Amino acid sequence: MATMQEVIPLLSSSTAIITPGASPAAISFRSLSKQVNSVRSFLSSLALSPQSAVAIALENSLEFAIVFFAVTYSGFVAAPLNPALKQSEFEFYLQDLKCPVAFVATKENEAVVKAAGKIGKFVEGGNVNIFTISAGDEVTVSGLDGKKVMPTGWKGKVQDAKADDVALVLHTSGTTGRPKVVPLTHLNLTTSIRNIIQTYRLTPSDTSLLVMPLFHVHGLLCGFLAPFAVSATVIVPPRFSASSFWHDFVEYKATWYTAVPTIHQILLKSAAAPEPLPKIRFIRSCSSALAPSTMRSLEERFHAPVIEAYAMTEEQASHQMTSNELPPGKRKPTSVGKPQGSVSIKILDQDGNEVAGGQEGEICVKGGNVTKGYRNNNLANESSFTKSGYFRTGDQGKVDEDGFVFITGRIKELINRGGEKISPVELDGVLLEHGAVAEAVAFAVPDEMYGQEVQAAVVLKADGKNVTEQDIKDFVAERVAKFKVPKKIYFTKVMPKTATGKIQRKNIADKFFKPQSQ
Ligand code: ATP
Ligand code: MG
Repeated sequence: MATMQEVIPLLSSSTAIITPGASPAAISFRSLSKQVNSVRSFLSSLALSPQSAVAIALENSLEFAIVFFAVTYSGFVAAPLNPALKQSEFEFYLQDLKCPVAFVATKENEAVVKAAGKIGKFVEGGNVNIFTISAGDEVTVSGLDGKKVMPTGWKGKVQDAKADDVALVLHTSGTTGRPKVVPLTHLNLTTSIRNIIQTYRLTPSDTSLLVMPLFHVHGLLCGFLAPFAVSATVIVPPRFSASSFWHDFVEYKATWYTAVPTIHQILLKSAAAPEPLPKIRFIRSCSSALAPSTMRSLEERFHAPVIEAYAMTEEQASHQMTSNELPPGKRKPTSVGKPQGSVSIKILDQDGNEVAGGQEGEICVKGGNVTKGYRNNNLANESSFTKSGYFRTGDQGKVDEDGFVFITGRIKELINRGGEKISPVELDGVLLEHGAVAEAVAFAVPDEMYGQEVQAAVVLKADGKNVTEQDIKDFVAERVAKFKVPKKIYFTKVMPKTATGKIQRKNIADKFFKPQSQ
């Protein structure tokens, strides 16, 4: 059994967080710990019930770290929310999670403030209390009237968390519908953190550059909490920026980063790699399919092994059900690697029976790491677990003879063209092989004859503007069966994405496909 505080004790005198451009830029674990303790004292003075949810509507920042540790160490539940949500979305989340307290940045977040004002009376025990926070060498918490509510040095009695307390509620990315709420305990998180450290052999001499948002599992667990547990350093810009990525990487001597494929693609497309190249221990890719061409280009350009992993919010205990291994361990391009830690993976058919070796089916996962269920979502809970307790991931895939897992797509996103199942992930990969294509998304559209038909949208590279729709169709037709070739290809300058940089195929289809024009 282990709590967050036991696994991340914040004791080292080394640098915990570097905030590029801030003054001071570097904060030690000791300073972080001091500021966390101040906020813990402050929280205890609010007399909240144990396990109350505290909303954290902050960008990636030192302040986020301070509130997150203060909340979880004290047995409250951290509820990170995208600070860019709209008022109605904040109303939904603050109410759904019953948050008596929300933290926002010193430059107050109007949408949160308005949402809290509107829903105050529904929350148990009164209004949602909103506090602003700013940190550096010292932390200041103020009310909305700007008055400090936590003078430095204030000492109160604090509670400690237990390993089976819920530490965190996170939302899934909302790629296939409304985000689902996943509660995770201290034990879930600390198991996850230990698995990540082990897989990537993280040490105190590592420094990572955080580019994923902290309100989702990828950035929070792998990019943020795991490094802290080994007293490694994390560089924390407020968000990903292609123009400052390499500057920060070199300036603060990063050794690795983890990101979604979209970010890797943007780096390949728009960011000039520094000369000489910094030594990169590894690049981790997770959260959506990494096209083989992207992996190849990354390795060629940045001279670093690319390690692809597979994770989902619901199995948060390991934030990677599977991963490839660091060299000299084995990696297989297009595979997401092998199960990690205590994770067991089975490929099941629609009736819940295991498929014969190597066949495709639904990837199902079991292990102490998998969430016990979604919050307030019985419908999803009933359909998500098999009789033998395996969690249905909704992903289609197969396992090869060496135990490597291959994801072939999301079941909901498979294109059914007159009964022929087509994986849009496969087509994305083929389109990306084309030298002029920087981003590509294939999707289903309704079709009178076949039920569904294949179309795609692409973003061209700067030097690929002369390419025509027919050129790309011909390129694809040389590589896949005729029925899979997209019947129409849209050219666009930007591809819409979720806050985590994921592609919502349904939304993209709706954006480009206009039935009346067909
Ligand atoms: P929602 O469940 O709300 O529709 P989501 O599934 O995208 O959104 P997350 O929990 O953030 O929310 O993401 C988990 C999913 O991401 C997995 O089920 C899988 O579909 C996809 N995924 C994760 N890693 C990979 C990978 N390496 N390759 C392909 N897909 C991946
Ligand atoms: Mg999901």
